[in-house]
Amino acid sequence: MFKYTQIFKGTAFSSKSSKEVQILQDYLFCINADGIIEKTIAPEHPDYQTVLHTYKGKENFYQLTDGQYFFPGFVDLHVHAPQWAQAGTALDIPLYDWLNTYTFPIESKFSDLAFAKEVYEDLVSTLLANGTTTSLYFATVHKEASLLLAEICATKGQRGLVGKVVMDDPEQNPAFYRDANTATALADTEEFILAVKELAKSTKQGVYPVVTPRFIPSCTDSALKGLGELAAKYDTHIQSHCSESDWEHSYVQDRFNKNDAYALHDFGLLGDKSVMAHCNFLNDEDATLFAETGTAIGHCPISNAYFANSVIPIARFHGKGVDIGLGSDISGGFSPSLFDNARQAVMSSRMLEDGVNTALPADKRGVPNSRITINEAFYLATAGGGESLSLPIGRLQENYTWDVQVIDTKVASAKLPIFDNKEELIDIFQKIMYLVRPENIREVWVQGIKVHERTE
Ligand SMILES: [Zn+2]
Repeated sequence: MFKYTQIFKGTAFSSKSSKEVQILQDYLFCINADGIIEKTIAPEHPDYQTVLHTYKGKENFYQLTDGQYFFPGFVDLHVHAPQWAQAGTALDIPLYDWLNTYTFPIESKFSDLAFAKEVYEDLVSTLLANGTTTSLYFATVHKEASLLLAEICATKGQRGLVGKVVMDDPEQNPAFYRDANTATALADTEEFILAVKELAKSTKQGVYPVVTPRFIPSCTDSALKGLGELAAKYDTHIQSHCSESDWEHSYVQDRFNKNDAYALHDFGLLGDKSVMAHCNFLNDEDATLFAETGTAIGHCPISNAYFANSVIPIARFHGKGVDIGLGSDISGGFSPSLFDNARQAVMSSRMLEDGVNTALPADKRGVPNSRITINEAFYLATAGGGESLSLPIGRLQENYTWDVQVIDTKVASAKLPIFDNKEELIDIFQKIMYLVRPENIREVWVQGIKVHERTE
């Protein structure tokens, strides 16, 4: 009578809304052949015992042990894959210098496919081990190496959304690292889109091509226009950077006499499948445009502490109805973990609310109503990321993909401080959010397939 491909039994946490976490205590999650959650069954449901009796003991029945919990897989909305090779370095210099002195030289090395393979395989494995089941990647200008990244995601089982980066303006980009010219940039992007769409046909969890102008300063008007047209022609996702820092924000103002948001919109680059990284300097009008077009913000709290000259008012933009998710921004952000980024998102928002300059009186120091809670940070890392990409991911509920992390709070090398076996589950959830390390992430599943298992 029941024809499920897999049954998972255990306690799970999933976002009910941006502020509320739903606790699914001792549920059965019934997964179909496509890796989708077909049914969630609570212990009090009339079918619970029947399904349990039918599947228990079979090889497609999985049950968590004491101290283990299901978390939705994380959705990382902003990763510069080649920059994994320089993660953690040179974070003490400004964005413009960082790009030209460190980042562009390292990215230029990805014309070498052997080097690209070594870095990309390590990065995808590392992100999976940190619980990231879906990643939105910037690769490099190189078409072949960008396709290699999509192939590695396909092989390792991660849902990868990958962009061949476009940076065609000879005035703005170094001769050793840019597209040969605008026509080549657009032709390579189109060939890349077609190749990834072909690859996706044989990939259960999906891989997706993403139209990727690096940011307005690195692209000519004709490239930006052409990319908007390609995205429309092939209905792809779109990613770029928007209003990140004082320098970048002012550059776009000088060139177009308008803010990034409106400039990007003019080129057809804002829409339901668009994710713009950072967006710290959006004004209320820009944010309204984001909400109206369905454009999402990829919030990168660790990176922002180094390069954004500001703290983004996440609570205000959320209040205006903008989709928001979290990004690691490797390697503007040093950490491949969205747990680390969720923690920083909360801390930065608290500093924005309270202010930081003690020379000012308390009531003049900060920006009221700016804080977000750890529940909201969890939402950004999971359901918010799914909504930003317009994919059925990031929630453990029916018709969503079975993308999960199995968190073990009792691992000897990273035991969480839980001393009362009747501790409230919402408190355990908070301890997990703040204290988990990669050692606690025992298994990671994407679309019903186990893609990571930690043995030590
Ligand atoms: Zn970035």
